[in-house]
Amino acid sequence: MAETTKRQRSCIACGKQAGKTELFRIVRGPDGFAAFDSTGRAPGRGAYVCSQECFATACKTRKLERALKTKLDHEDLERIAAEVSSALREA
Ligand SMILES: [Zn+2]
Repeated sequence: MAETTKRQRSCIACGKQAGKTELFRIVRGPDGFAAFDSTGRAPGRGAYVCSQECFATACKTRKLERALKTKLDHEDLERIAAEVSSALREA
């Protein structure tokens, strides 16, 4: 039996499964501050999205808030969206 060594994560918006490095991780740290986690290893509760579109969907449908178990206001979402899009530009 072949074992999967690479842990797959799924996008909270569309459910697509992918490796950790292919997804964008949003993390809510121990201090309750939510941010885009460019390293993929920040401590705290994380949620994954596969694209900017899915990030927008996850915000709209409040899936992101549910996944992170926190309230995100408009400013938080705008800030995280900007962080995600700047990461996309660098890629
Ligand atoms: Zn997705």
